[in-house]
Amino acid sequence: MAKKLISSVRGMNDILSDQTPIWQYVETTIKQVLDSYGYQEIRLPILEVTELFSRSIGEITDIVEKEMFSFTDRNGDNLTLRPEGTAGCVRAGIQHGLFHNQTQKLWYIGQMFRHERPQQGRYRQFNQIGAEVYGLKGPDIDTEIILMTARFWRQLGLNNLELQINSLGSMEARTVYKQKLVDYLSDYNEQLDADSQRRLRTNPLRILDSKNPQMLPIIEKAPKLLEYLDTESQEHFSQLRELLDKIGIKYKVNPSLVRGLDYYNRTVFEWVTDCLGAQGTVCAGGRYDSLIEQIGGKATSAIGFAMGIERLVLLLLQSDLPIPTNAPDVYFILVGNEQVIKHGWYLAELLRDALPNLRLIVNCGDGSFKSQFKRADKSGAKLALVLAEDELANQKIALKYLREKRPQVILEQLELINYLKNLD
Ligand code: ATP
Ligand code: MG
Repeated sequence: MAKKLISSVRGMNDILSDQTPIWQYVETTIKQVLDSYGYQEIRLPILEVTELFSRSIGEITDIVEKEMFSFTDRNGDNLTLRPEGTAGCVRAGIQHGLFHNQTQKLWYIGQMFRHERPQQGRYRQFNQIGAEVYGLKGPDIDTEIILMTARFWRQLGLNNLELQINSLGSMEARTVYKQKLVDYLSDYNEQLDADSQRRLRTNPLRILDSKNPQMLPIIEKAPKLLEYLDTESQEHFSQLRELLDKIGIKYKVNPSLVRGLDYYNRTVFEWVTDCLGAQGTVCAGGRYDSLIEQIGGKATSAIGFAMGIERLVLLLLQSDLPIPTNAPDVYFILVGNEQVIKHGWYLAELLRDALPNLRLIVNCGDGSFKSQFKRADKSGAKLALVLAEDELANQKIALKYLREKRPQVILEQLELINYLKNLD
């Protein structure tokens, strides 16, 4: 009887080796920029106690209400696969005393888990790169964070992202505003969708974040939080905008931008694109000055952001930018007796010593010249090296161009390193 095949869990994807070069390219490019701004990597566990997320992200949020992968382990502890990176980073900072009289500029990379409906750009396991800064009130650091994200896209060659910013003000200002919003929305109670009706009672600000197009006309006419900002937050926000203007970073103030997580205050921002359908937010972040105290640490200013790597990869694949591949530079064909094979392996190691960045595949598993040549072609290599009994006897080697119409070259084996070194 045929055995039942086991597939991956719905919404959790394998990234196969034809895709990993583009992932590596995105990750390396972004890490290089983070490094150049002096941000340091922190590595955090994938599992945390569930309470960490309900206390930080907020009980009345999409994530905590319906998206977490939570379970009870063998000891009866309630654990959750992290749905985002900020809570764990704050937990680690408190636990290791990273917030005492010091500033921290940290970044992380890793898988996150949310039980959402899988579709393009939205998965149940996805990957984020994020950064968090602690101990700085801004607005200079708010600007730095935004400049750094702008640089990511420039380095990757992406120019179809729009920056949207907003300020959520202080907690007190939001309380006043919340009442105005509830008064306004209550007049439309009949037209609100079920989610919004519920949120009107539990977390009205979140209604502004609704993805339901029918809600948009109501949201657009709602009172604007920006008009209720406290003076300090107003000043903070205008300094941020002035710095962005001075440096020439374009942005749109979006007064409905509130972000889906509870912990934000003052600056919030998103980088959005219209190339990914409903999954248009590639990177999102903001200030969260009260979170650390809220989960038991000493009051510490904080700001951070996270970006979805899957969405960046999709954007690159859709663009006409050159996409990195796994193709080797050279495929080494070895045809003949044992002496030929042994000498071929010896030469290949010499090449690797001299040219550590050369991508060289030595034919394994024998085969006629014809079949090895086919493998060389299929590998995508630019060049094939051929060593057969004749070449071995004359200390020569043949070099064939696989992607260009150029005649074969016969080289002295000793010349090979220099020849390859001078190729681009
Ligand atoms: P969305 O509005 O798209 O659901 P979000 O506000 O829930 O996003 P954040 O929690 O701010 O997202 O996460 C930051 C980034 O992580 C998002 O902008 C997106 O690029 C990515 N992201 C979030 N959820 C997913 C997911 N389920 N699958 C893939 N990427 C995701
Ligand atoms: Mg979401």
